[in-house]
Amino acid sequence: MNNIKNNLTKVAAVVATLISTSVFAQTQVIHAGELLAVPGKSSLKNQTIVVKDGKISSVEKGFLPVENYGEDAKLIDLSKSFVMPGLMDMHVHLQMELGEHNTKDALQLSDADLAMQSVYFAKTTLMSGFTTVRDLLSHSEQMYALRDGINKGIIDGPRVVAAAGVTITGGHLDVDGMSPDILKLKTPETICDGPFECRKVTREAIKYGADAIKVASTGGVLSDTDTGTGQQMTDNELNEIVETAHGLGRKVASHAHAAAGINAALRAGVDSIEHGSYANRESIKLFKKTGAYLVPTLLAGDTVVNMAKGSDFMSAPIKAKALRVGADMLANFKKSYKAGVKIAFGTDSGVSRHGTNAREAVLMHQAGMKTSDILKSATVNGADLIGMSEQLGTIEEGKFADIIAMDASPLKNIEELLDVDFVMKDGKVYKQ
Ligand SMILES: [Zn+2]
Repeated sequence: MNNIKNNLTKVAAVVATLISTSVFAQTQVIHAGELLAVPGKSSLKNQTIVVKDGKISSVEKGFLPVENYGEDAKLIDLSKSFVMPGLMDMHVHLQMELGEHNTKDALQLSDADLAMQSVYFAKTTLMSGFTTVRDLLSHSEQMYALRDGINKGIIDGPRVVAAAGVTITGGHLDVDGMSPDILKLKTPETICDGPFECRKVTREAIKYGADAIKVASTGGVLSDTDTGTGQQMTDNELNEIVETAHGLGRKVASHAHAAAGINAALRAGVDSIEHGSYANRESIKLFKKTGAYLVPTLLAGDTVVNMAKGSDFMSAPIKAKALRVGADMLANFKKSYKAGVKIAFGTDSGVSRHGTNAREAVLMHQAGMKTSDILKSATVNGADLIGMSEQLGTIEEGKFADIIAMDASPLKNIEELLDVDFVMKDGKVYKQ
């Protein structure tokens, strides 16, 4: 019996090796016409990237012959393309896409339906050039399953950093807009009021698989309540969540619009502020002191303004907030960028359509951000924000081979990002 077991274990080990090596064993040699290996620095013409076992094994000058890397080595000819690290979006919601159907969906879609939907949106996102995303709130169990399925290689999608949302009763991440009976059924498990409860739900969220924690220190535009966009979570609740999460090695992102909430979250030590619509002088000082990132989500602002003007599905309080906050988000972004606040690219996709994430870059550019800074915000800065600078964000020896390419340089025309022709993640080509 023991022998059979031993043999089975051996067979399983061989099969596992075959599976894992079949995709990656072959050395891939990429000829890059123009290579932006480290966004923020200059690009270089005619470079060779060597990819082995899903990682970058070297970057060399000139187009080196593929034969140099063994009989099996495969050439990927991007000699006429602009090549750069895969894009990173720090704020998406992979299970939803906003629209007229929302109220109906909330009542009719099961968690399994949402999971299926997220598989589709994940693939759409990857194919548009985004190789890493941070999901800042979806149904947790399904989100973790999606993340893990992608990591196992059985689902095509970007690497997912999955954040659980911790919120106060009636806060922005709580449910709203339905009858009390239904609200009771749908109330999330990660609701907390007071520091002790907040400590507990933060620990629980991490226990069940959260890579990061999201809080809402202020109200939100799309919550169907008339409680505004002011500070909602108290200082002691925020402090407790950040301390607990950091103690367990997890970063904290805070959704925040009003200055009081932005500043309270920054003082508590969060790692990023999402939206940040009404940052004031004090906020900018705190951003610079703590080193927290602003994730501007201009695309969400743009989308909700257009929806408020052009469609009927928003309630009166949502419409009013959408019209006001959309424009203010943009003004704040300009001010914060000028002041030198660190910016990480994030779209709130799910509010906007998945796969159109790069439109954020166009809006950032329209607001006056330099193209080189935009590309850095969507690579190097994203990697730093999720604590993965050693593995992601640049094309350098030892990093994961997350590589994209397009016809022409987005440094010259940012709209090139809207049309990514080549996508490699972990050394596997998904689009060519
Ligand atoms: Zn969001």
